[in-house]
Amino acid sequence: MNTETTPGAPRLLNDDIVFADAYEDARASFLMLSEGAGAATQSHRHPTAVGIDGAPLFVDTAYFGPRDARKVLLSLSGVHGQEFYAGSAAQRRWIRSERWREVPDDLGILFVHALNPFGCAWFSRTTENNVDLNRNFIDHTKPHQKNPTYGELIPLLKLGAPSEKAFADFEKKMKGLEESIGVEKFRRAVMRGQYEHPEATAYGGVKPEWSNTLLRRIVTEHLGTAQFVGLIDWHTGIGPTDGTFIVCFHNPGEPAFDHVCDWWGKSNVEKSLSSFGEFEFRPDFSGLAFQGVRESLPNAEVIGAVIEFGTYSPEEVSRAILVDLWLRFDCPDPAGEDAAYWCAYMMERLWPQSPDWRNNCLRLSDDLYSRTVAGLAAL
Ligand SMILES: [Zn+2]
Repeated sequence: MNTETTPGAPRLLNDDIVFADAYEDARASFLMLSEGAGAATQSHRHPTAVGIDGAPLFVDTAYFGPRDARKVLLSLSGVHGQEFYAGSAAQRRWIRSERWREVPDDLGILFVHALNPFGCAWFSRTTENNVDLNRNFIDHTKPHQKNPTYGELIPLLKLGAPSEKAFADFEKKMKGLEESIGVEKFRRAVMRGQYEHPEATAYGGVKPEWSNTLLRRIVTEHLGTAQFVGLIDWHTGIGPTDGTFIVCFHNPGEPAFDHVCDWWGKSNVEKSLSSFGEFEFRPDFSGLAFQGVRESLPNAEVIGAVIEFGTYSPEEVSRAILVDLWLRFDCPDPAGEDAAYWCAYMMERLWPQSPDWRNNCLRLSDDLYSRTVAGLAAL
């Protein structure tokens, strides 16, 4: 197994810093806190990708509790790179506030930190291959689904250079496309993912990403004896700016649906059946990490969701995604001032600077972790 411990001393001397704004700081803090709390940690080095300064990149895990636990809370951060900073803060805050001391003896907790380390370190939604990891967990041995409706969006995604005018033009053309295709049909196509355009958004790849294979290995190794797995995959950008939005994949009638309603509130979960951000339907996602976890644990009931912290309006978040694509493929000077300006613009929309917003995330995540632990304990 390709595992290593962190090289050199942690850069952070002060464990109060939960709000890291760089991958290396978040990672050092996660390892320091986890090891300080007595968790079993593992570090998985990316075989090819490196960080901005050329340093190696890792996915780290911390396991609390008995290794053969029948019930486990699994929490992921960094499936989407820019959104990693909120998920990592939630994980580190929980460890730092010693909440693991309150967990029943027969329950395990597994934190997977920075699942897409390239995206986390480089402030990009996607992996080193521009793959949206939450569209990659499909069966790649079968023909990849075509998404011709998505193809109509491709020409609009190239901004030239980001500017208020470029955004306004994009939004106008997008509205026109939605009206000609039908809003729901178009939005479902956009959300579903696509497997034909490697330099566009929502690209699911044509083979399993390294992070995909690794996650399957991690959960098989750590959770092989679990009967119940509660999964929280932290994200940002959808939902109310002062709250969470639960993107739940269970349907009424399934036992898992009743469990998440009990844990997180029926009305909160039900919202995700009929809405997504500003839209009044639940998209048909393919290739979510949730699906990969479920396939890897055929003997367990996997109960969970993507949980989003809302940030800005859907238009503002869409702008951030366009900027990500521009920085990735079209920015003429990636080390220049323009790139730095637009990177900060993008990050603000997915990891806002406001201390109030950030502290609210921690309150919300603490509450959701507690509810999930209590719910699992009662099963
Ligand atoms: Zn996300």
